[in-house]
Amino acid sequence: MTYLTIDTVVKSFGDFRALKGVSLTVEEGEFICFLGPSGCGKTTLLRAIAGLDLPTDGRIEQAGRDITLAPPEQRDFGIVFQSYALFPNLSVYQNIAFGLENMRLPKAEIQERVQSLLDTIGLPDSGHKYPGQLSGGQQQRVALARAIALSPGLLLLDEPLSALDARVRIQLRAEIKRLQKELGITTIMVTHDQEEALAMANRIVVMNHGEIEQIGTPEQIYYQPATPFVARFIGAMNFYSAVADEQGRLRLGEHALPRQVAPGSRHLLAWRPELTRLADAGQGPALRGRIRELSFLGAFVRAEVTVDSHPEPILADLSPRDCNMEQLRPGQEISLALPLEHTHLFCGANA
Ligand code: ATP
Repeated sequence: MTYLTIDTVVKSFGDFRALKGVSLTVEEGEFICFLGPSGCGKTTLLRAIAGLDLPTDGRIEQAGRDITLAPPEQRDFGIVFQSYALFPNLSVYQNIAFGLENMRLPKAEIQERVQSLLDTIGLPDSGHKYPGQLSGGQQQRVALARAIALSPGLLLLDEPLSALDARVRIQLRAEIKRLQKELGITTIMVTHDQEEALAMANRIVVMNHGEIEQIGTPEQIYYQPATPFVARFIGAMNFYSAVADEQGRLRLGEHALPRQVAPGSRHLLAWRPELTRLADAGQGPALRGRIRELSFLGAFVRAEVTVDSHPEPILADLSPRDCNMEQLRPGQEISLALPLEHTHLFCGANA
C-alpha cells in the first residue's frame, strides 16, 4: 500500500533549483535510500518530507493526507541526523523520554517504554549516563531510540552513519536494518555511500542534479543501471565506446556483439570488472590490450588493461579460479572477454 507520495516536487533557493520536479511513491514498510553525490538534492528532499524546508511547488502526501505545507510538528515522523543531536545536559533516559513526557503520558508507562527502547538498542544499563560519556555509535543508537519512541509512521535518517568509524558503521548498519524490519516502519535514509545503500535499502532512489536518475532494488540498480551516471556512480564499471558498422554491428576485434543496432550509431558499452574474464583465442567478442598494472586486492587481482587508444584503462578483477595468476605480468598482451549478457548498451546522447 502506498504510504508516501511525492508528486513533482520543486525546491528553489533563489534562482537555483535544488529539486527539479521529483516524483516517487513509497510503500508502507519499505526501506528507501536516497543516494547521490554531494549537492544532488537528497537532503533537500528529506527536509521537504519532514517539513523543515517547504517545497516551492508540487505535493507531498503521507498516509493519504496532504502534508505539503504542514509544519514539522503536525507531521508523523521521527528523524535522526548525522550529528546525533542529543541534548548534552540530559541523561540518555531523559533524551529518549523527551517526546513521551511532552505527550504527558503516565510516568510508569514512560519508564516501561524507555526501558524497552534501551533494551532494543542494546544499552539496557545506560539510562543514567550522559551523551558525552557514550561513544559515537552509542549516541547514534540513543538518537535512533528517541526517534522511534513515539512509534511514528515514518523514520527519516539523514546520513546517520557517516560520522562513525568503519567498523561501527557496518555493525550499526545491520542493527538499523534489523530494527526497521522488526518494527515494519517505513524508512527513508539519505546517504552518499553506495555500499550502504546496496546493503540496507529495499529500493534505492539515485539522484543527480536535483532529478531522479533511477529507482530500483539494489540488484536492479547494480545490474541494470538505467543511465551511464548510475552505472558510474554504483561500484566500478568499465566503459568502451564503439560505433556500429554499415550492417549495424558493433565490432570488437574479429567478432561482433550479438545485437543489432542502427548503422553508424555510437554506443557506450558498460560492464563490471568482476564479470570480465581472460578470453580464449577466437572464442567471441574480446578486447585486446596490454596489462598496465596489477594490484593485489585480497579476494582478487585487479588488472588495469590499456586498450588501443581508449582513454581509460579497462579493469578486470581476476581470481585464481579464472586464470593462472603466476603468468600475469605488467606489459603483457592479453585479450579480455566481455560478459555479453551483462554488458549494457547506452546509445545516442548518453554515449
Ligand atoms: P550533501 O551530501 O553534500 O548534503 P545533498 O545531495 O544532500 O548533498 P542538498 O543539501 O540537498 O544536497 O543540496 C542541494 C543543493 O541545494 C546544493 O547545491 C546546495 O548548495 C543547495 N542548497 C541546499 N540548501 C540551501 C539553502 N538553504 N540555501 C541555498 N542553497 C541551498
